[in-house]
Parts: sequence; C-alpha cells; structure tokens
Amino acid sequence: MPRMSHPEMSGPLVVLLGGGPGDESLLTAAGAKWLSGADVVVYDRLVDPALLELCRADAERVHVGKAPGRRGWEQERINDLLIERARQGRLVVRLKGGDPLVFGRGAEEAEALARAGVPFCILPGVTAALAAGASAGIPLTDRRFASSVAFVTGREDPTRPETRMDWEALARIDTLVLYMGVGNLSDVVERLVRAGRDPRTPAATIASASTARQQTVTAPLAELPKAVEAAGIAPPAVTIVGQVVRLRERIAWRERLPLFGKTVMITRARPQGREMKEMLTTLGAAVIEAPAIEIRPPENPGAVDEALRRLGDFDLVVLTSANGAEAFVAACRRLGLDGRALGRAKVAAVGPATASALARHFITADIVPQTFTTRALGEAIRSSLELSGRRVLLARADIAEAALGESLRSAGAEVTEVCLYRTVRPAGLDEPSRAAIRERRLDWIAFASSSAVRNFVSLVQELQENESVGQLLAAVRLAAIGPVTAEAIRAVGLVPTVVAEEHTARGLVEAILRTGG
Ligand code: SAH
Repeated sequence: MPRMSHPEMSGPLVVLLGGGPGDESLLTAAGAKWLSGADVVVYDRLVDPALLELCRADAERVHVGKAPGRRGWEQERINDLLIERARQGRLVVRLKGGDPLVFGRGAEEAEALARAGVPFCILPGVTAALAAGASAGIPLTDRRFASSVAFVTGREDPTRPETRMDWEALARIDTLVLYMGVGNLSDVVERLVRAGRDPRTPAATIASASTARQQTVTAPLAELPKAVEAAGIAPPAVTIVGQVVRLRERIAWRERLPLFGKTVMITRARPQGREMKEMLTTLGAAVIEAPAIEIRPPENPGAVDEALRRLGDFDLVVLTSANGAEAFVAACRRLGLDGRALGRAKVAAVGPATASALARHFITADIVPQTFTTRALGEAIRSSLELSGRRVLLARADIAEAALGESLRSAGAEVTEVCLYRTVRPAGLDEPSRAAIRERRLDWIAFASSSAVRNFVSLVQELQENESVGQLLAAVRLAAIGPVTAEAIRAVGLVPTVVAEEHTARGLVEAILRTGG
C-alpha cells in the first residue's frame, strides 16, 4: 500500500498518473503500486479497463471520459472533483492514457491542484508515440536516418481560432509523430506537403498501438490518407512521418507473433486465468476473459474445520486443484493453524499448479502424478503409498467426481472427504464477451475444466440469440485442457478442436499453437 510506504504523506494527495497506451503490460511499476492503493480513481476514455482491475474492490471509480465540444466546463468539473475528493483525505489517482503531460491536459489539473493547495505528484507513462514506434518496428530516431523528432497534435485548442503551428519548421524535422489525427489526416498531410515536406516521405498510421488489435498502414506521405481510409483505420491512432518508417520492413515484430490477429476467450476463474492470459498475450493474441466459474465458500465450513483441527491424524492430504490448495491454506489460517499442523501427513497434488500454490505457502507436495488428472493422481498415490489402514483427507471441490475417493478406499484407505469450496456459475457474461460471441469475433475458446464447459454453454444459451449455441460457435475452435474436459465439450454437442497433451495452462496454450493458431 502506497500509504504505508509513505507514512509522512497522510493528508490529501492526488497522483497524476500516466497509464500507458492501452496495454496493461506497459503500466509502470509505480503506476501499479499507486493504483492498488487508491481510494478514488478518476479515469479517461482511452484507459485500458484491465488497469482498473488493479484497484481495490471498494475503490471509487469515476469515469470522466471527455467528449469533444464539451471541454471547458468539464475540465473544471474534473478539477473540482479531484480537489473535493482529496480534501476528504482520500488518496486520489487521476489516471490518464499515455503520459499525463503529453496532449493530456495534465498540467491544467496540476495547476488547479496547486491553486487549491492540494498536494499532488506527477508520474509519467509511456506515451502513444513511443508505444507505436516500438510496437510497429519504427524507431523514432536512428543515427542513419533521423536525429530529431517532434510530437504534433492534429487538433489544437478549439477556442483559439488562429493556428500556432509552424508547418515550415515541422516539415524540416526528421521524424514527426502526429497525435489525434485520423479524421483530419488529409488536412495535416496537405499542410505538411505545402510547407515543403516531400510527398514521397515514408509514413505510417498505427492504430491501437501496442495492443493485440494493433493495425498499421504504410504509404508515401501524400497517399497515406487514402490508404488509411481504405483500411478502415479507427482511432486511437498516431501517424509517423519520416525515413525511419522504412525500417519497419525489417524490424516489424508484433505482426509476426504466432497468435497475432487471433482472439481467444478464456473461461477460467479470474486469478487462474491470469497466467493463461499473459501467455496468450505475449504470443500476440487478443484475450477476452469470460470466467464461467466463480469460487464460493463451502456450504458446510464446519465439516472442513473439524477435519483440519485433527489434520495431524491423517497420513495423507490430497488436493485436487490450485483453488483447493488456496482454500485449504486459507481455512488453516482461519483456524490459527500453520504448516506444522500437517505433522507427519504426506501431501498429494493433482498437478504443478496445485503444487506451486502449496509451495507458495511453504508446503512441498510429496506426490504429483505424471499426467495431471484425478485418475492419474489416484494411481500415483496407490503406487507410492501402502494405503491399507491409512487415513486420507481428500479435500476437494463440491462438484468432484466420486472416483478418486473410491479408488483410494478400494486400496484399503480410510477416506474423509471434505468440500473446500464450491464452484458456481456466474450470473451472466459481461458485455465485451457477449459482443464478441454475437459478432463472431472469436477464433478460440479455451476450457480448463468440464464445469467451465457446462457453465459456459448455459451462459451462451442465456444470450437468447435466435441461433443455437452450436450455430453461434460454429466457426470457433475449442481447446480442452484434458480428456475429461474434451468429453464434456462433446457431451454438450460441440467438437473439441484440440486437447492439451500436458494438462496445464501452458499445455493448453501449446495445443493452440500446434495448430498454427
Ligand atoms: N496523453 C496521451 C495522449 C492523449 S491524446 C499519450 O501520452 O499518449 C489521444 C491521442 O493519443 C489519440 O488521438 C491518439 O493519437 C493517441 N493514442 C493514444 N493511445 C493510442 C494507441 N494505443 N495507439 C495509437 N495512438 C494512441
């Protein structure tokens, strides 16, 4: 928490924070820290919603997205809001796209805060020009081609009638980066050419730079506006003008990522989905999170407590999921128990994610099967332990199949089964997920459990489209984490395209990659 690391700052404070150009991975470490401690977050239209997920659940979120033509009074209202919330003694983060002081009116807000005597700090963010250059493979400077660069807005303050832009001077700068100029690109290009810029100068427009939706169009300067229109480029976009654009041919990289241009929906519960999301994003895919599972406390926590209080009596504790491992540790904590309560009990985990969840809490799993299914887990336990007369605690989800318990019992174990958590179907899909399904933008859906499959299908049914689930998802490829999940996909009348060889998030991503995306 920022407040704790800055004990001297206990009064009002506004952090003017640059959130970067739209990809959450480009948020600075300082930005992540302040966002996670904020009491109030005031943000704009171009801010990536994923950034807001870093905020505490109880943080107040205020969307002050500005609309053109409604600027003057609205800026004042934003200033007043910042001042008022800060004076309540709350930590206010004013989150802006890119950098707060590059075409961001951050200075006006800082001035208002200074006038009001409200303490503030200004933290930079990656501005769109830098993100676009890096992500499209266009260096803004290069010792061979460009030693000067200018950032130019395509739109000046509408309250000032005369233009202050010195186009002759700008035409002589090696690299120009034009912000805010999709609609008026032809205007700006015309002025530049009239001011003496060679109409054949290489130029590129980059939309949604540094995100999986990035789109780039290159053309000689004079032809760029037409090319941009033909490609249907939508804002936000920047245009880079200069010889450096030629280097893109050799160093463009994002478009070469194996999953670039693909949209993958992941249906895992949020914290588990993260790892998969990061892998897919790194490979270039656009990821839509549509959690089909929510983790809830068990119906009967008393039974869990009773078993955990005599944890030391067990010879073996079996955990069948990472969620289970986390719930197990949380329940132990709640009872004031720590790792020592396990005593001589051995621990078995279904796979590496479960094992590493335990390892985070200083518990090393003794048994992890080669294949990460509950059936393989049963076999691994039977082959590594003499179970006859042994006491086994099987701590699992509410929906687990009975097979694992039965297999241990048939080997002579005395098995106590407790339900550590329940998995429930969320109330509905969020709007971005529904839109992606409806507009058929999905290339892949990844399923990590059979309950995710069943819940997801029921959520899609509720969209109440005129078509069946099968028709809605006809062109979508389905990836299953393992054979049980694949069977669940078949059971709802769909066809799994791939089944992961290794039953982990990584295995699932590899299976998608093997098909060539
Ligand atoms: N303060 C921001 C700029 C705000 S003005 C910054 O430092 O980046 C908004 C303009 O920024 C847009 O019209 C567009 O020109 C540019 N922009 C913002 N995000 C962008 C992105 N992801 N890709 C391309 N251009 C972007």
